[in-house]
Amino acid sequence: MDSLWLYDNKTFQNIDFKDNLDEDFSTDICIIGAGIFGLTCAYYLSNLGYKVTVLEKSDIASKVTGHTTGKITSQHGLFYEYLTNSYGQKFAKDYLDANEDAIQNIKNIIDKENINCDFKYQNSYVYTTKNSELNSIKKEYNALSSLCYNCELVTKTGLPFDIVAAICFKNQAEFHPVKYLSNLCRCIIKRKGEIYTNTTAVDVKMEDSNYTTYANMHKIKSKFVIIATHYPFINFPRILFY
Ligand SMILES: Cc1cc2nc3c(=O)[nH]c(=O)nc-3n(C[C@H](O)[C@H](O)[C@H](O)COP(=O)(O)OP(=O)(O)OC[C@H]3O[C@@H](n4cnc5c(N)ncnc54)[C@H](O)[C@@H]3O)c2cc1C
Repeated sequence: MDSLWLYDNKTFQNIDFKDNLDEDFSTDICIIGAGIFGLTCAYYLSNLGYKVTVLEKSDIASKVTGHTTGKITSQHGLFYEYLTNSYGQKFAKDYLDANEDAIQNIKNIIDKENINCDFKYQNSYVYTTKNSELNSIKKEYNALSSLCYNCELVTKTGLPFDIVAAICFKNQAEFHPVKYLSNLCRCIIKRKGEIYTNTTAVDVKMEDSNYTTYANMHKIKSKFVIIATHYPFINFPRILFY
């Protein structure tokens, strides 16, 4: 299905991507996958002075990241009561704090790099229109209150229909994820990083305490490898499958 974020092919204009890796070389960190995870790693690591090389089998942000709803929020349905009950309050609080930090980190990058990506703070609501679900909303609200999170239990959202109850998280956000990432690419390349499109990694091997990534019949040697492919493409023990 087409995505609103990927509709404008000017977003990636004038970015010096490399296409179709066709040589062997060495780099500090090889990052496989150019969705939000891979490019965020590349951004931070290139800022720290590492030479990063990103390999993307297709186009930048063209997979899951290019098809998100573009919200940046700690609110993931009714989740915190479940987390607290299943893993304890500290775990739930750490998860909440990490997600709130992520909103702030994205905003910090946008401000620092002067990125225009339609970022806007917004309230986020989880709501019900059914009396039978009121209790679940209240339990979630109580769980959030015991994590000292400053949210509100409300009966109006501004939506054009009536609701029974909602939990409002303030200072959440929306953005255009692909505009955001195109600008991260510019920052990465400015800091001497390289981003290869149409370059599929097929294997990673450890040799003499360095890694070799095999892609397009070529080898990239690096001290570290980050697999940012959303779903792992190589098989190693203790990961999803054997
Ligand atoms: C419908 C939907 C809506 C969502 N809405 C939101 C939302 O509003 N807010 C939110 O925070 N999250 C949302 N998510 C989740 C979020 O989009 C994902 O968690 C995030 O985009 C994953 O990013 P990623 O970089 O890990 O994966 P991807 O974006 O999939 O990137 C992985 C990249 O790796 C590349 N790749 C794979 N294999 C190889 C290989 N062998 N060699 C080279 N490259 C390879 C792929 O081509 C791809 O570009 C949503 C998800 C979906 C499906």
